[in-house]
Amino acid sequence: MKQLAFCFAFAAIIAVAQQSDGSAQESARPNILFIFCDDLTCQSLSCYGDNRHLLDTPNIDRIAREGIRFDRCLVTNSICGPSRATILTGKYSHLNGFYNNSNCKFDSDQVTFPKLLQKSGYATAMIGKWHLVSDPTGFDYWNILPGQGLYYNSQMITKDGRVRQDGYVTDVVTDVSLDWLRNRDKSKPFLLMSQHKAPHREWAPALRHLGWNKDQDFAEPETLFDDYSGRSLAISDHDMGLDRTFTDLDAKLVPAPNLTDEQLKEWNAYYEPRNEAFRKANPQGRDLVRWRYQRYMHDYLACVKAVDENVGRILDFLDAEKLTENTLLVFSSDQGFYLGEHGWFDKRWIFEESLRSPLLVRWPGKIKAGVTNRNIVSLIDFAETFLDVAGQQPDSEMQGRSLLPLCQGETPSDWRKSLYYHYYEFPVPHHVRPHVGVITDRYKLVHYYKPDVDDWELLDREKDPLEVKNFYADPAYADTVKELHAELERLKIEVQETAEPPRSAYGNRPFAGEPQIEQPGGRR
Ligand code: CA
Repeated sequence: MKQLAFCFAFAAIIAVAQQSDGSAQESARPNILFIFCDDLTCQSLSCYGDNRHLLDTPNIDRIAREGIRFDRCLVTNSICGPSRATILTGKYSHLNGFYNNSNCKFDSDQVTFPKLLQKSGYATAMIGKWHLVSDPTGFDYWNILPGQGLYYNSQMITKDGRVRQDGYVTDVVTDVSLDWLRNRDKSKPFLLMSQHKAPHREWAPALRHLGWNKDQDFAEPETLFDDYSGRSLAISDHDMGLDRTFTDLDAKLVPAPNLTDEQLKEWNAYYEPRNEAFRKANPQGRDLVRWRYQRYMHDYLACVKAVDENVGRILDFLDAEKLTENTLLVFSSDQGFYLGEHGWFDKRWIFEESLRSPLLVRWPGKIKAGVTNRNIVSLIDFAETFLDVAGQQPDSEMQGRSLLPLCQGETPSDWRKSLYYHYYEFPVPHHVRPHVGVITDRYKLVHYYKPDVDDWELLDREKDPLEVKNFYADPAYADTVKELHAELERLKIEVQETAEPPRSAYGNRPFAGEPQIEQPGGRR
């Protein structure tokens, strides 16, 4: 009997030893916390130093100060769903199948980095805006907004169904994220994707931020009244202008949807007197654009202010739980956005404001603090970066490259000097024609190719940082044009997009003269 008891005790010691050994190994692997925004642009973050100084973002700036700030993190197709699919798969739109927001459904059988991390022993969670139609896979827990979700009292979906979540969406996404972090399986390292709706259109602020700027005017961008002269028809014939596209909902001349009676009262107390003054003044032409720009900046930046506060809550939690040291924190967005540049809101174009995403990475002790990097990096690199950090091999079909060496101050000598870009969705929602291009540190060669244009443009960011000129036909650029054509062809082969995209890549609306295309059903 004594012998048997000894055997049990011995077995128990072995089991504990194995468990503690396993736990020790697990705790050595870093946690990965991905805070992701929708349409958040570098011009709105103080750490990116925009010359308009639109907003102070002290908490987001803290990540930059304690980690690395990438200044040219570029997207490969500047809209929401496609960027998200590219992040998950590490593949271009034409290979992951998610070309546009109109008629694509993410093929969740694909290999994604969360699936690989989950398989390797990570606790995985996806919380907030998903926007890929099919249910998330590769996550132990998911709790997502339906489609775009709502700013106020939005429903959220788990595998058990839909529940209304009272409150302001940016706060709610953080609340749910913190709840999951508190209750996670602490024997495993974690991957948490905490993904905000903000600051997506229609930019509805939290009530606490109404009037945050004390009615001070925001500086205007130099290209607010861009006349698009000398440019392709593709650029002037858009539907995303403050002059022509801005709706009453965008302008808050009508309230945001789904406010409670009490919230509506507070909302109206701010907006109504100002809207009344607007109606009385009835501005026209440039004055109307200026008024819209001011209203747009108040609202968009208020949404960013709420993101910043909620980033602060997450940072405080990591500090309090002693998780700061062993957590790779990545802060980014699915693309940039126009804050009035070229007279626009929205994204889609290859121009710098919507091509560039903010990217801040912090990993104390592993990544030097306060560093900036100007290499061309991309959302397509995220999957392989996360896998690298977790000590996992990337999937052989992934097309990016781990950013870890760059984060640690070493740029490999064969790091990319150019990036392939392809935007498809047309004609709705913003009438931005499909375009394909190559981007280098200085230049962009762009082809607007469908359905009624066949125009090439060359942009030179050194000579023309505002990107308002086309140098394509300038004889002084003949050699550059030739080199970039060759580079574009090389990249098409490298990324495996040598064939014409399928008609469905452009969405579910017909081009002028085409027959009607069948509309899809409900979307998530
Ligand atoms: Ca977006």
